[in-house]
Order: sequence, then structure tokens, then C-alpha cells
Amino acid sequence: MDPQASLLQSLNAEQRQAVSAERSNMLIVAGAGTGKTRVLVSRIAWLLGVEALAAREVLAVTFTNKAAHEMLERIEALKLNTVNLKGLWCGTFHSICARFLRSYAVQAGLDPSFTIMDSDDQKRFIDELLKAEEQADLAVAAKAAKLTPAKIGAIIADFKEQGLRAAQAAAKFHSRLTPEMELTLELYPVYEQECLRQSKVDFAELILRTVELFTHNAELRALQQRRFKEILVDEFQDTNHLQYQLLSLLKGHDSHIFAVGDDDQSIYGWRGADYRNLNRFLKDFAPVHLFKLEQNYRSTSQILHAANLLIGCNHERITDKHLQSVKGDGERISVLSFNKVEDEASGIAQCIEKLIADGEAPSSIAVLYRNNARSALIEQELLQRSIPYYVYGGQRFYERKEVQDAISYLRLAVNPSDNGALLRIINVPARGFGPAKLSTLRAIAAERGISLHQALCQVVAFAKEHADAPREIKLLAKKSAGFVELIAALNAKVQVGAAPELLLTMVLEAGLLDYYAQVDAKEKKDSDEGRCANLEMLLLNAKNLSAREERTPTEDADGKPLSKIVAFLSNAALMGSTELTASGSSGDDFAKKVRLYTIHSAKGLEFDTVFVAGFERGLLPFVPFQQPREQAQQRKCLEEERRLAYVAITRAKNHLYLCYAAYAFSYYSGWQLAGPSPFLNDIVRALGRNERATLFDFYAAADFV
Ligand code: ATP
Ligand code: MG
Repeated sequence: MDPQASLLQSLNAEQRQAVSAERSNMLIVAGAGTGKTRVLVSRIAWLLGVEALAAREVLAVTFTNKAAHEMLERIEALKLNTVNLKGLWCGTFHSICARFLRSYAVQAGLDPSFTIMDSDDQKRFIDELLKAEEQADLAVAAKAAKLTPAKIGAIIADFKEQGLRAAQAAAKFHSRLTPEMELTLELYPVYEQECLRQSKVDFAELILRTVELFTHNAELRALQQRRFKEILVDEFQDTNHLQYQLLSLLKGHDSHIFAVGDDDQSIYGWRGADYRNLNRFLKDFAPVHLFKLEQNYRSTSQILHAANLLIGCNHERITDKHLQSVKGDGERISVLSFNKVEDEASGIAQCIEKLIADGEAPSSIAVLYRNNARSALIEQELLQRSIPYYVYGGQRFYERKEVQDAISYLRLAVNPSDNGALLRIINVPARGFGPAKLSTLRAIAAERGISLHQALCQVVAFAKEHADAPREIKLLAKKSAGFVELIAALNAKVQVGAAPELLLTMVLEAGLLDYYAQVDAKEKKDSDEGRCANLEMLLLNAKNLSAREERTPTEDADGKPLSKIVAFLSNAALMGSTELTASGSSGDDFAKKVRLYTIHSAKGLEFDTVFVAGFERGLLPFVPFQQPREQAQQRKCLEEERRLAYVAITRAKNHLYLCYAAYAFSYYSGWQLAGPSPFLNDIVRALGRNERATLFDFYAAADFV
């Protein structure tokens, strides 16, 4: 078969038209699972195989590294053996800009060997900047305003994503500057200077600097415009202002942009993405050939029907879609209601165990959740049942900083000579225990051949007994007295066999929870997955494990029961060490693992069976720390959350389980009423009475015990 025919044979008529259309600017707006990504990939194959473009003339932009990787795989799977893919640029906006900047570092005013900072690096970098003597006043003011390095980093990123350098931001916002913005603007130029001096580039800078490079350097801009004849962009609804600007700069007279997107799946508004870019595109790049796809190949009719009813409740939509499933009816959607969140976790794990026993491949099963914290209990339950799983993106629960911090306190309680644990938390929460004091402490411990904790104890005792102790020692003792007392109290509890949850409660109440509550409040922009929520989950895990230990205690190698706290700590260590390596996303092992994703990170993916955990009031829609006050803003947020629920539901091909708990746990308020997400009611309300029974099966917790 000739390449043209073989390329088109696996597509429907609408898709074929889009793939084989004459070269022009094109926009495909279509619902989930209609084959947008398939069309985009086929279009690349068409351009290379039929239009005979060289690979280097094609630029494909996707939203995540994973999607970029998948796209390359799909192109390779088309087996275009006559086509050489070398030179094809395919990646995320960030990776593509990094590539431009490496190639044109000198023109961009960068050192070609620049390093890229992630948001954690950025936070530390800002922290260091604030410690410099010249910034002493600013540091004091920032502290007084409770403006953390993380928050400063977020505000700088925000400015950059709007394309604004310090002076421009000051000019643009001058009468509307918040005190936080004002302070940040003072540091912004220093931050930039220091980034340049140390050859560091943050994420937002990658894109901003590339945009500036091509804005000001006409020669280089023309070069790119001549090179890339076709620019293809997946998930276009999630582009922000700066990314849109970059695309505009890269497009030349003779080149085209091929964009695919779905306004109903725009879920990054909180990061500046604007689905109205779809409409803007039609105007700015006119004439644009517009295509629609209405056949859904992914989901059964029932799943699609529920998704359509849900998204139909949104008002801010660009297109009204009439998606039809090609699959026909399948099973009904299961709505699983549980009493408490941990019942939900064990219920889901139990269902998964049964599905696997019935022959379903683990990798075709995914559990999706709104917030990372929700994965903790599910991980634990899967682990208990020896069901291998893979948590996509982010860290696994037990490897998260706040969780590791809390665990380090417990490790110290059991073994005060654990220097690693001590170093981790000696200054968390901050006790004024900086590098200078630490090196004094290290010197004392080394000189006497004792642990850091013993050294601390000796310093505190010495200072107490000697009023004339050197100032340095007195200061050290003063800073560490509370800490030494806490560890002693914890240790005493361990000696009498206290349960892990009691120890954890002591640690949380001694300041760790308050500390992370502050971190959460200040970082709120990035953290819809609060660290306090993770600590609460850890406490709940400890309680559950304790209860289990009562029934079936864990034994050591000699068959003696381990103390509950030691059992808890070894469980936590095990949870950490079963993590896949960063590159372990392929191979047999990976195929045998159930997938755990946040809904955001599952965008564009699909699975035979999807469990949405926490389809629950308070979580979907997520009720954040501070609700926006204005009604219009509130509605906007609600609609984005509804789109998020739509993304979750439309990941399922054949089986969908919507799960919720009647009660959710919060450290401060204990058990609180949760119940089904209002989005479930949206769907149910839109259904006729008779339809309800054909679309849903409702199961109560009792069915799972
Ligand atoms: P999303 O909006 O979630 O990103 P999408 O519109 O990009 O979805 P794809 O992921 O491209 O959709 O396709 C969904 C599924 O349907 C895939 O498994 C794809 O292989 C399949 N599919 C798409 N078009 C066809 C077709 N014409 N025939 C058979 N299967 C198809
Ligand atoms: Mg897609």
C-alpha cells in the first residue's frame, strides 16, 4: 500500500480531511478522545511522508515531557521507514526553549553552559540572596510581611509568564502593586543579576528569554521562521500568554501553525493558561482552516454521556460539542461510597485486586485524584496487598519533604544517634540553627567521638552548670534546649511502647504542623496539595497501621514482634525504596504496575479502567485556603474544577469508578462531613429518572467489607 493510503486508513473521514488538508494554518477544536493527538501525529507523518518536508522543518510542541515522548513513539509506530526523523524538534515549550537558548546562548546574553533551576532550586537561591548583607533590609521587610522565598519565586515567575521584567512589571502594575509585589520588585533585578552571574536560568526565564531573543534579533527570528515550515501544538487550550507570543514569533510568511485543543479541558488557568487563545488564534492567524471531530473512540457511551452532561453545566465554553461514542454501551459507571477515606483506599485496592485476579492488566488500571495527599492511603493499601504500582510525577508520599521530616523525628526518638535524621530536622521548624552553629556542633561531636545528639545534650548540660560558659556555647545551648527536650520526651515515650500516632502527634504539635501550615499558606499558589494535608495523612496512616499491628504484629527476623514504632518506621522505609528509578518508565516491570496520577498529570492519557478517588465535596471542586471573594472569580474557578472532573472522567475507556467518602479527616477539625462531589449531582440532575439506572450503579461501603 502506498504511504498515503496506509496513513489515512486508520482514520475516519473528518480526521482524514484534517490530516491530508492543504498546508495552511489549522485549528482542530474537539472533545476528549476524538483523536486530536492521533490526528496531530498523523499530520506530522503526512508532512514528512507525503508533503516531503524534512524532519528539521517540523516543530511539535506538547505539554508534558511524557506527552512529547509518547508522540515520538507514535510517529515511530507509524513505521515510516523511508522517513528520517533526525532533526525533528518535538518537546515541551520549556525543553524547546532550552534548546534555542543553548544554540544561541551568546546572542541571548547567556553562558552556553547555563544550568536550569527548578522551583525548589529557585527557592534556595532566593533564600541565599536574602542572606547577603546588602539585602538585610529587604530580608527584614520580607520577613515582617511573611513573604517567603517560595512566594517571591512564584511572583517572579508570574511576572515572567506575563512577559514582564522588573521595570515593566513596576510600570504595568504601579497603582495596583500589593506590598508583596513591591518587595519582590526590589529583589527582582538583583535576582536577575545573580542568575546571570551564576549562569542559572529558571523555568519561566527559559521562555521569556527566548521570546526576547526572537523579538529583538530579527536575523535569528527570520532564520527560525525559514526553518520551521510547520509548527504543531497539542493541548493548545493550555498555552499561556508568553507561549502564545513565542508561537507568533516563530511563525513566518511561508510557515503554518497546526493547533489542536479542547476548551473543555483547559485546566491550567491557575498558571496563566487561557483557553480563549483558541479564539485569538482564529483571528491572529487568519485565514485558519477550522476542523471539528465528533466521534469519540475512547470511551463507552455511558462514560461519554456522563462526561457530556457534566461539561454541559459550564457556561464559559467556546464550542458546544456533540460527541458520539463509536463503542456503544458498556458497563454502567460505578459510584462507590465509603464511610471514611481509608475505607475508600482499601475498597479501591480490593476492587483492583479482583480486577487483576480476573485477568485485567495492572497497567490498564489507573487511580486518579485531585490532590497528591489522597494517594498516600491508596499506596499503603496497594502495598499491603502486594499490588505493584507506579506513581506518576512528583514524589511518592513517603519521600515528600514534610513526611520525611516528621519521620526523621520518629527515627531520632527511637535512635537519638541517627545523625542523618538530626541534620534533617535540627532547623525544621527554624530554630536559628544555621551553618555556623552546625559546624560548632560537628566539631564538638567529632572531637569527643559522640553523636550530634549527644553533643547537643552535653552542650545544654554544660551551659546550665556553667554560668561562665563561652558565649558561643551558651548560644548553642539556648537554641537547642527545646529540641533536646522534645527528643527526650519522645524517647521516653518510645521506652514505654507508645504508639506511633501518639509520637507523631507530639511532633506535629511541637511546631511541625504550624510550620508547614505557614509554608502552605505562603506557597498557596503552587500548593493545591498542601503539606499539612500530607502530614494529616501520615498521622492517619500511623493510626491504621497501629490498629493492624494490634491484630497481626510484625515480627523481626527472629520471630519476635517488633515494637509498633519500629514496624511503622520500617514500613515507611519500604514505601520509599519501592520507587521506580526516574528512567524506569518502560520495560516489563512497568507494564505490571497500576498507575497513580493526579488528574492534572493524566491529561491526554487513557486507561481501560479508571478510579477517581475523592470525587468528593471539598476536593472536587477543591476548596482552597482562601476563596476568591468576587462571585465572577468564584464561578471561573468552579468551571475550571468542572473541566478537571471532565478530564478525569474522559480518561476512562471501559470502566469508570467514581469514589467518595462520607467523612474526610482533618488534623484540626477531626472527621468532617464530605460526601459526593456536587459534580456527581450535576450529572444525576441532568438525567431522567429512568436513565439513572442505566448510567450508574451505586454501591455503599457495606458492599466492601
Ligand atoms: P484528549 O482530548 O484526551 O487528549 P484526543 O482527542 O487527543 O484525546 P487521542 O488520544 O488521539 O484523542 O485518541 C483517543 C483514542 O482513540 C486513542 O486510543 C486513539 O488511538 C483512538 N482513535 C482515535 N482515532 C481513531 C480512529 N479513527 N480509529 C480507531 N481508533 C482511534
Ligand atoms: Mg490528546
